[in-house]
Amino acid sequence: MPQTISRKKLKVTGVVQGVGFRPFVYRLAGVHHLAGWVCNTSTCVEIEVEGAAASLEKFVNQLTTQAPSLARVDTVEAMEAEPQGRSGFAILKSQRQMATEALIPADASTCAPCFAEVLDPHNRRYLYPFTNCTDCGPRFTLIQKVPYDRGNTTMSVFPMCEACRAEYENPADRRFHAEPTACPVCGPQIWLEEPGRRHHAQEALEAAASLLKAGKIVAIKGLGGFHLAVDARQDEAVATLRRRKGRVAKPFAVMVRDLAEAEKLCHLGEAERNCLLSLERPIVLAKRRADGEVSSQVAPGNQYLGLMLPYTPLHLLLLAQAPAALVMTSGNLSEEPLVHTNEAARDRLAELADAFLMHDRDIQVPCDDSVVRPLAPDKAIPLRRARGFVPSPIYLPLESPPLLGVGAEQKNTFCLAWSNTAILSQHLGDLDTIETFDYYSQAIAHFKALCSKEPVVVAHDLHPLYWSTRYATGLQGVRLVGVQHHHAHIAACLAENRRRGKCIGLALDGTGYGLDETIWGGEILVASLTGFTRSGHLAPVLLPGGEAAVRDPQRMAVAYLYQVHGENFNHLAQDLGLSYPSLESRILYRQLTTGINSPLTTSAGRLFDAVAAVLDICRRRTYEGQPAIELEMAADPDEDGFYPAPIQMERDTLILDTLTIFRRVVDEYRYGIDPAKIAARFHNSLVRLLTAACELVRNQTGLDLVALSGGVFQNALILRQLYDSLEKRGFQVLTHKLTPPNDGCISLGQVAVAAARLGQENGR
Ligand code: ZN
Ligand code: ZN
Ligand code: FE
Repeated sequence: MPQTISRKKLKVTGVVQGVGFRPFVYRLAGVHHLAGWVCNTSTCVEIEVEGAAASLEKFVNQLTTQAPSLARVDTVEAMEAEPQGRSGFAILKSQRQMATEALIPADASTCAPCFAEVLDPHNRRYLYPFTNCTDCGPRFTLIQKVPYDRGNTTMSVFPMCEACRAEYENPADRRFHAEPTACPVCGPQIWLEEPGRRHHAQEALEAAASLLKAGKIVAIKGLGGFHLAVDARQDEAVATLRRRKGRVAKPFAVMVRDLAEAEKLCHLGEAERNCLLSLERPIVLAKRRADGEVSSQVAPGNQYLGLMLPYTPLHLLLLAQAPAALVMTSGNLSEEPLVHTNEAARDRLAELADAFLMHDRDIQVPCDDSVVRPLAPDKAIPLRRARGFVPSPIYLPLESPPLLGVGAEQKNTFCLAWSNTAILSQHLGDLDTIETFDYYSQAIAHFKALCSKEPVVVAHDLHPLYWSTRYATGLQGVRLVGVQHHHAHIAACLAENRRRGKCIGLALDGTGYGLDETIWGGEILVASLTGFTRSGHLAPVLLPGGEAAVRDPQRMAVAYLYQVHGENFNHLAQDLGLSYPSLESRILYRQLTTGINSPLTTSAGRLFDAVAAVLDICRRRTYEGQPAIELEMAADPDEDGFYPAPIQMERDTLILDTLTIFRRVVDEYRYGIDPAKIAARFHNSLVRLLTAACELVRNQTGLDLVALSGGVFQNALILRQLYDSLEKRGFQVLTHKLTPPNDGCISLGQVAVAAARLGQENGR
């Protein structure tokens, strides 16, 4: 029986350029004996294929199901065409018309075949630290401009040798059009700089490894910037790094040689292993083993370690000779931007590092390691979204004109959006210095160029003093859209779940500028993308001294004591051992009793601070979030007691009586009950109170969709318990999976809200 021959025109969109998609199409056409061609256009990949109808159908299916690991196929549009009866399949030259709208791929960890080549003495890339292919290697961090071509990357200064060019031009090769393709003959090289000496190639790795063994600090240039590395098992060495970096207690991440080494340090379940081995190779929080051999200086007071596996050949080769577990922390002084050029490293890390392991492949865009917290085998909380994830698109549940969301102040990211695509920047850190602000402005300009977008609508936070707000209001000729901080949180959670609302939004975080100019942070909103009403909040307390109270958990404990016990608070504070120098104590007294320089706050973060201080779990904060993190760690997982607390209704607003919970915490602590039990009861109480509040709002509104956002949901204890508790009562619960619940998600929420409002104006 003669086969029916047909021809199809296909348009494939998504992350399909620079990820080996065309050679994949070429090979797939070969497998199914199809004729035709494939070609990159400015917006997608176009394919025409001709052959037996049944094979054609398989081909179209497998375009999605068997796509290369770095590709992400979003749509395949197919149209019938007239068969032409020709044979052969070709990869046509790219059409380079107009601005490209094809999406830029993220950096990917080295694939297994590339790692194998590096370890194979017979391979021409044996021990070569910059080995990569279409399935792996740097992308985003070395792209200077679009379209994504070698000539537009920092690899342009390395002309390919003949062997590399042959691979690059051969459609059947793993390195066909892998733009960063390189080998020891033609590509970037490493060296080690020590005072007075230089070592090259293999010798550089060996020298770096022996310095690390000797407890020295080595600055290592990686994929997205410099790390400071030190043997994770040597107390002295890690303590020296802390001292030099000016970092008191904030945990350091650890890179381990392999999974077996990771198992020695931490308890790894399926969830942790999946995250560690994922393509993005992020830093993964995992519970440490009591007998895990790692210096107590790595993560003091923390039951978790941030682990990651080698994600470039350089790391693999170094870890093979160096100590099996290395602290790998961002190469910067605390709170400064990540150092990513050789010059800046020599200049700014000179006092921090004993030696520099460098290379001559420039990093165009600095990008920190990403951090995730595993919850279940297929579920993790993103804590920091950067290398490996950025700039992968997040799809919006609505159409958007070109938009910029400038983000918040802490853990800043910004976001560009158009049609239904949102591209979130990498985590940029806190915008509180001129350096970080410059870095931020440059990063926005770079993203606009990469995406070929010049948004005329800019969404920003309502806080007038945020640097991001000032950036927005300083722009000429744009329309500004102000978005309330907690509305942006809930909108981000809705948007990444591709929902538009309406929902009950629980936004629990440290600080956000409220519509009444007080400091919000424990909010129950009824929200859609377009707007919100504040249905309830935690009981307000004074924030004595403003920022001073944010930085000092003891101050918050005293503020809560004042709110609960009035004038009697001083005596109680002394009783609890919350001590102050007398001058500060007098100022605090005045602030509380007169309200001077003491705004009201409903912040959930500050409640955690106060409880951690009362229980003497954390009385001195050396990094943001420390009291809450240590309170969660201290909680006894087997304790299920709780403190009942009422919800009052004041002028249509629910007031969650967190003061009652605080009062019980203090009472029980004074009776001598185990702080681990109290910490657990505190968490349990909050979960019950929030669940009860959701039920009340459901009764009022009929809504049963709940969205959870805000830094508090980095706390796995609260997140898990609240999720279960709400589901058990028939709520549908949305959580963050693509963006962090902390302020890293704000820019996404801002563009979602702005897009929704503009759509509403235009009657959509
Ligand atoms: Zn590879
Ligand atoms: Zn070469
Ligand atoms: Fe926030």
